[in-house]
Amino acid sequence: MARLGVFQALLDDQMTWAEREAIHEAHDRADAAAIAKGDLAVLQRRVIEQRKELDKLRTALSVMCQVLGETKLLDVRLLDVRLEAEIDDLEDATGETRPAPQLTACARCGAHVPVTNTAMTGAGTVCDACFARP
Ligand SMILES: [Zn+2]
Repeated sequence: MARLGVFQALLDDQMTWAEREAIHEAHDRADAAAIAKGDLAVLQRRVIEQRKELDKLRTALSVMCQVLGETKLLDVRLLDVRLEAEIDDLEDATGETRPAPQLTACARCGAHVPVTNTAMTGAGTVCDACFARP
């Protein structure tokens, strides 16, 4: 049996969490043994598997946000602002260094905000907060 994908692991109700973990641990041990013997193709396979899983997760998140936005169950702009803030906090906590943000003045409130936190409107570039306001 192959290593389980994220969705298979989450959605297969015929398998317990302990069984999923046992499968993954068995795969990890087999891969570690192969790597210890110098089989670097295992690492390449793992990277490819992880890339595919990330693509699936990215697609699932995108589709969920689109559906929630289309059905008005989610304010997509607010989600974007909150996600960006959380990611910034995460990057700060993990010590990731980022270049200083390029600032611009909001055409509505005049605040100087990072360009990445703005939106283009007919009235000019406005900050995300002003853009979210009616
Ligand atoms: Zn503003």
